[in-house]
Amino acid sequence: MKRSVQQTEEHGNRPRVDPQAFRRRLLAWYDRHRRVMPWRAEKGQQPNPYHVWLSEIMLQQTTVATVGPYFMKFVRRWPTVQALARAKPDDVRKLWAGLGYYRRARSLHEAARVIVQQDDGRFPDTEAALRMLPGCGPYTAAAVAAIAFGRAANVVDGNVERVMARLHAEKTPLPQAKQILRDLAARFVTGTRAGDYAQALMDLGATVCTPRNPSCASCPVESFCAARAQGIAESLPRRAEKKPRPVRRAMAFYVTDGNGAVLLRRRPAKGLLAGMMEIPSSDWRKGPLPSLRRVQEDAPVKADWQLLPGTIRHVFSHFDLEMVVAVATSSGAAGHRWVRLPALSREALPSVMHKIIRHVQTHNRKD
Ligand code: SF4
Repeated sequence: MKRSVQQTEEHGNRPRVDPQAFRRRLLAWYDRHRRVMPWRAEKGQQPNPYHVWLSEIMLQQTTVATVGPYFMKFVRRWPTVQALARAKPDDVRKLWAGLGYYRRARSLHEAARVIVQQDDGRFPDTEAALRMLPGCGPYTAAAVAAIAFGRAANVVDGNVERVMARLHAEKTPLPQAKQILRDLAARFVTGTRAGDYAQALMDLGATVCTPRNPSCASCPVESFCAARAQGIAESLPRRAEKKPRPVRRAMAFYVTDGNGAVLLRRRPAKGLLAGMMEIPSSDWRKGPLPSLRRVQEDAPVKADWQLLPGTIRHVFSHFDLEMVVAVATSSGAAGHRWVRLPALSREALPSVMHKIIRHVQTHNRKD
């Protein structure tokens, strides 16, 4: 069915959307349907830059639903950036545990210290100055500049890319289309209600213009949308075929002392899951799952190891991890720490370690 669309043709056959009319429509919708989030200022209230920044760091690669409770825990424990700057690194890691991508926790803490040292806790308020903070990439800097300080910043995440691709029926596949979509998004940016506009676009992408089954019939900007008019909304944005993800494999060594304590070790201060506690394991290597005979020398203690059935799978940003688990009882291992089972929840344990613990509880009747 041919639909009427509020667009005009421009060079390259890409339909042009009137930015002013689009913004008016989107902001009117946002005023009625904005999502309530613990870090968002009430309508008419000044945003708290610390809350905006903290939430944006947490939201990198993590969903709004997951971030909510973590955000609340952080602001209760450290209500200001000064308080966060004074926190012990291990306390920050512990409160972050389970949120994943742990480098973010370290960068967050370092950035808090930089902010306090630089200007006694006054937040940098431009994109360029925010970019100087550890862990603050182009997207986060733009989002904080727009939302916390009303700067005319081009805030482009996956949601915005999707809306722009559909609005303009842009068929170039991602990732090649990234710059095209960024340039298209930039046409709509102004310094008027900059934060509301950025959040409105995010909300539209998250709740209406969703990756699957977009709710075009109830979309506030449907009349501007070329993909809707052409009946190709759900097929956009296109994506180049993905290469298979690399897989690493390892064996975890779950040792108990026979009295309800588990052996943990601290990961190195640099690299993946830096400084977090973990169940000891063999190196995470490419190739097939290791046999007990092959990796026994990596075990933290000499013991009568029993291999549990089943495999644990965990997705990291750049690879997938597959692990098997060997269990044993022993009384000592130098340089490691015994932690009683009920106290495990207070340790800075990444999610993959909780998977190992659940796996043992399911498969090892003796534990
Ligand atoms: Fe997305 Fe459909 Fe709205 Fe177009 S009409 S912006 S495809 S929800």
